[in-house]
Amino acid sequence: MQTIENYDFSGKKALIRVDFNVPLNENFEITDDTRMRAALPTIQAVIEKGGSPIIMSHLGRPKGPEAKFSLKHLVAHLSELLGGTEVKIAPDCIGDETKAMAAALKPGEVLILENLRFHGEEKKGDEAFAQQLAELGDCWVNDAFGTAHRAHASTAVMAKFFPNDKMFGTLVSSEVASLDKVVAEPQRPFTAIMGGAKVSTKITIIENMLDKVDNLIIGGGMIFTFVKAMGGNIGGSLCEDDYVEMAKNIIEKAKAKGVNLVIAEDCVAADKFANDAAIEVCGSGEIKDGWLGLDVGPKTIEQFKEVIGNSKTVLWNGPAGVFEMENFAAGTVAIGDAVVEATKKGAFSLVGGGDSVAAVNKFGIAAGVSYISTAGGALLEYLEGKELPGIAAVRS
Ligand code: AMP
Repeated sequence: MQTIENYDFSGKKALIRVDFNVPLNENFEITDDTRMRAALPTIQAVIEKGGSPIIMSHLGRPKGPEAKFSLKHLVAHLSELLGGTEVKIAPDCIGDETKAMAAALKPGEVLILENLRFHGEEKKGDEAFAQQLAELGDCWVNDAFGTAHRAHASTAVMAKFFPNDKMFGTLVSSEVASLDKVVAEPQRPFTAIMGGAKVSTKITIIENMLDKVDNLIIGGGMIFTFVKAMGGNIGGSLCEDDYVEMAKNIIEKAKAKGVNLVIAEDCVAADKFANDAAIEVCGSGEIKDGWLGLDVGPKTIEQFKEVIGNSKTVLWNGPAGVFEMENFAAGTVAIGDAVVEATKKGAFSLVGGGDSVAAVNKFGIAAGVSYISTAGGALLEYLEGKELPGIAAVRS
């Protein structure tokens, strides 16, 4: 198999599929550049080995060409991350002008293509579109783990045009190696912390995790669907009524499988969804009408610390509370600290999913965990044991 290390990039134009789907604020400034930084080793390796990187990505969910989703917003920062190297931007990801720009690239010059999703063909996995992209370069590097679960034109379909010139980028190969430490043979006890807003988006992984873990910590807004399933009063807390039955099943299954399912016993409730709300600590099932549980409480934090502290493998996906607001960040901070402590004691810790990565960066603990995955859906599907099209396309 070709790798970044063994491939001769000299004089070649390398089409690198990256995941630059970064969050932007209303002034189109990047608020978290983790995904961009994660792709740098691959881009730099191509440059150092005498190639020209042609960077391809999507950004957001455009319905056609939309200025607010233009990759132009990323050019200056990418140039800065590459130590001042000029980054040219193509007016589109295909077409004559783009082709001419790609053809004119000299070794070491960097071109970024305009948002792939300005063309509906990208998500449809259209072969003719994939071929047009393929014509721009000499080899294909998949360094976008975040979209590896999609059989899109740039993430999987274009592999067929490079039967002998396709490879994983540095990020994807280290990502797969790290995930295998959790999926394949985790050291025990293995604890998964599943947090975030909605049960509906995490239900499959939660069910799958029940077969793998010793401890399953439920965090975030999801807690309250479980608390409701146990008959508690959750006031106006986030709850998905359609999932209450599912939550009951999970509680039963966990019992049957001997998994320690940790559902917050206390919480920080607020009288409105705002940092300056009135606050009180109460049982998670004793929330007053109209109040909302926005973080886990101190007893739960102690329980989290104990469970995480005794783990040899920790997977963390999703915050414990509304960590973006200072008054509801304590649970998420405590999880982060406990994960760092466990790692110091020799545990392998993997943090994945957009919001947990944002939390880890916000609280400055990134250096203390074993591996940070920048992927969301792809990570979850990999953890569920599914074969990802973007991985299979390189391996086949
Ligand atoms: P997700 O994208 O599903 O991982 O959810 C992450 C979001 O869930 C974050 O923006 C948190 O602010 C939010 N969140 C966490 N806990 C709660 C809660 N108790 N109530 C409402 N939102 C929450």
